[in-house]
Amino acid sequence: MATDKNKPVKFKLRVDIQCGVCGSLIHHSGETFPKFCACCGGALERFCLSCHKRAEMFFDEWWPEDDECLRTYSPAKRCSHCNAVLEMETDENGREDRGLKH
Ligand SMILES: [Zn+2]
Ligand SMILES: [Zn+2]
Repeated sequence: MATDKNKPVKFKLRVDIQCGVCGSLIHHSGETFPKFCACCGGALERFCLSCHKRAEMFFDEWWPEDDECLRTYSPAKRCSHCNAVLEMETDENGREDRGLKH
């Protein structure tokens, strides 16, 4: 049995998305990324309030096997365009802010 030391041209790409709210991993297959976490319903996409662009998710990549690539995407914490800090939506803060209205 010959072992091939070269990196294979064809490899399996597995994509996971980690929810920024509940931390659960969503196994992703297909073309379109889900917009919401299947577990807690939290938004996976982040829109920048400064430049109004969609911030790209960042990912970590590792190779569990020689011909298998695993990418774990997480929602962006900073805008990939203008580097503004993206705020997480939290219900608790929203309720508190209502008292400051007017
Ligand atoms: Zn979640
Ligand atoms: Zn921005």
